Amino acid sequence: MSAYRALTEAEAIDYARQIPDLFQKDSELTSREIGDGNLNLVFHISEPSTGKSIILKQALPYAKVVGESWPLTLDRARIESEALMIQESLCPDLVPHVHAYEPELALTVMQDLSDHVIMRRGLMERNKYPLFASHIGTFLARTLFYTSDLGMNQQDKKEQVKRFINPELCKITEDLIFDDPYTDSPNNNVPPAIRDAVEAVWKDTELHLEVAILREKFLTQAQALIHGDLHTGSIFIKPDSTKVIDPEFAYYGPMGFDIGAVLANLLLNYAAQEGWSPDAASRQDYRNYLTQTIRDIWKKFDSEFRALWDEHGVDRMSKTPGYQDLYMKRLLQDTFGYAGCKIVRRVHGLAQVADINKLEDEAAKERAQRIALAIGTTLIKSHRKAESIEQMIEIAEKNV
Ligand code: ADP
Ligand code: MG
Ligand code: MG
Ligand code: MG
Repeated sequence: MSAYRALTEAEAIDYARQIPDLFQKDSELTSREIGDGNLNLVFHISEPSTGKSIILKQALPYAKVVGESWPLTLDRARIESEALMIQESLCPDLVPHVHAYEPELALTVMQDLSDHVIMRRGLMERNKYPLFASHIGTFLARTLFYTSDLGMNQQDKKEQVKRFINPELCKITEDLIFDDPYTDSPNNNVPPAIRDAVEAVWKDTELHLEVAILREKFLTQAQALIHGDLHTGSIFIKPDSTKVIDPEFAYYGPMGFDIGAVLANLLLNYAAQEGWSPDAASRQDYRNYLTQTIRDIWKKFDSEFRALWDEHGVDRMSKTPGYQDLYMKRLLQDTFGYAGCKIVRRVHGLAQVADINKLEDEAAKERAQRIALAIGTTLIKSHRKAESIEQMIEIAEKNV
């Protein structure tokens, strides 16, 4: 029989006490459940007398967003803790340290990052993070290169593909991102004000063809160990530090899905500046910051990935002249397509984003939704023709 049970705040303290070399014997500990996500419990345990603290993240056997009617595998806690450990080995400063993983309880014990803020909130407050592009560009380049056939022995990689088979979480993506938003599905949450634009998406067969191509690649291309849910709610940030959390959707998939996720969430905030910026000049200023960040992320990723390839590439055939340029162009095209899909699902799909939904001015919210939908669908439709990151910025600027 499995010993799994969902912990209470008090039980989380009892568990934390047993972790060796962490808290003092018999000291007072406090416990708070702080999870704001859809799938898991997150306990913050602290020891006021020493200021030490820790996070316990526990997977629930169902999706909290829907309720117990949607069962979900606890194996995702293993996937998350193992992915975090691989990412830490490749980018030690860019993920929380994992102290322990307890399979029976589907529990990960990790570094407390409460001195950071969730990036989505930071962007809604219109903060600027000058080091973010470099940090996330490095995270993407190193995690994607070293887990692919470019940076790892092809037989070892196949073992990793097996270890990260994640069918239930992948199905969520396959349905909620690559299917429901393109049909009148009961899983959608269509904002009434933009129903006309959403119905146009449902009828647009040219768009559906491009989504089918991107979906096929998500289903079949075991290119690298991707994070799988790399939105700005999965990034903790402060001016001098970036930490990527929450890789429970990790599996071997297309690299462009992660890069596209980051850029999509910057573009969702770009659209939402309709409401967050107090006037036209500050709106323009913040949008310029976001587009410059998009440019810098791609440039950092591109240069670092190529440098890793040149220096640490393990595959003789990958040194074939012309192959690297072609590969990077395909990655850029995937990035456009997946960014577009990530944007569209956040406008009228099941799970939306606070950047847009927290706007109080209904007219500004409607404008933001229409802008996001226009940017997203244009990125999807143009993805196979993309040649440069500048085209993504042009698409954003043309649709406001
Ligand atoms: P979910 O998979 O349910 O979305 P997350 O890993 O995204 O869970 O965590 C949900 C929330 O819990 C985060 O938005 C953050 O507020 C908090 N949290 C998660 N991990 C940490 C951490 N290491 N340090 C501090 N807070 C955390
Ligand atoms: Mg999360
Ligand atoms: Mg209307
Ligand atoms: Mg999660």
